[in-house]
Amino acid sequence: MATRRAAGDNEQALTIRAAVLRRRGGPLSIETLEMEGPRDDEVLVRLVASGICHTDISYVNEWYDASEGPLILGHEGAGIVERIGKKVKGFRRGDPVVLSYQSCGACAACRSGRPAECRNLYDLNFGFRRPGGGNAYLRSGVKGHFFGQSSFATRTLATVRNLVKVKRVLPLELLAPLGCGLQTGAGAVMNSLAVKKGASIAVFGTGSVGLAAIMAARIVGAAPIIGVDILPKRLRLARELGATHTIDSGREDVATRIEAITGRGVDYSVEGTGNGEMLRLSMEMLNQKGTAALLTGASGPGRLPGGRKALSVIQGDAVPQLFIPRLISLYRKGLFPFDRLVKFYDFRQINRAIADSMRGSAIKPVLRISAVQP
Ligand SMILES: [Zn+2]
Ligand SMILES: [Zn+2]
Repeated sequence: MATRRAAGDNEQALTIRAAVLRRRGGPLSIETLEMEGPRDDEVLVRLVASGICHTDISYVNEWYDASEGPLILGHEGAGIVERIGKKVKGFRRGDPVVLSYQSCGACAACRSGRPAECRNLYDLNFGFRRPGGGNAYLRSGVKGHFFGQSSFATRTLATVRNLVKVKRVLPLELLAPLGCGLQTGAGAVMNSLAVKKGASIAVFGTGSVGLAAIMAARIVGAAPIIGVDILPKRLRLARELGATHTIDSGREDVATRIEAITGRGVDYSVEGTGNGEMLRLSMEMLNQKGTAALLTGASGPGRLPGGRKALSVIQGDAVPQLFIPRLISLYRKGLFPFDRLVKFYDFRQINRAIADSMRGSAIKPVLRISAVQP
């Protein structure tokens, strides 16, 4: 009987507050909703903070179709475990966690330790359904489970596949953006491209993903490290964080500059803008053995000259449970100072945070959620 009562408690519905998208272009409105508790294989997390990633903003402004119904976005959550399903192992109430992307754990890629190549990746991250099917948000018609989390909320459900337990040494609100954007940029350099010491690299786009790539390039000893962007303020920060050269693509000819710096083009490039011209340059400015990491899924008009390679990179080919603790350890050694990118906002300022990110005045907005109850 005791077990049954415990299970009943677990499944009991909760009241949450979440930022809901109902119209393309926004604004998001913070609403009170009812959500089911965790199933046997789920974990309930009380969110402390959530980063805002470019993918959230693209969803609000471009991809959202009102026929999908109202949605909860957000996929860079950090928080505290509040309840665990009966079959969950390795987590306890009170554990601090960072939330990352979802993967199935059962397909060939997942079983061989490559969750970023999970065959169910699209469905689990963009399907707006619970991993086992269905929707935990009650009666409202609102859907969530974005990236297995929907972190623009006071509480959410996740699984052991997308939870990373972290030590209590740093504030959780700082760690939130490690779950997607920073993992993607650093992982592209350290995992996907496996950039070697002394190799040359150009990073197109110096937002949070590109700056993470630049910090990672410095860690592995790449040189020269070239940052390309149209915002002088970001290029200044890129130099402080590791770029040896920067190119203002709004005022300078990128190809001429890269040739002048490297002679024959770069060994590696990272393309994080999705802009057609930058995409073309990221491939054409490679030297003959060069490799490009394309991070936005855009293919555009780029032409890949003979001998060069291009990788379409998802989540920096990172296993979150291994890579996020590694990034935290690099941060603590002063080698990955991603706090320089973060700007905090109250959860209720979510629309301003999105606007600031679009305008370029916030590189990595992070919402402080714990102040909002319940
Ligand atoms: Zn899988
Ligand atoms: Zn993201």
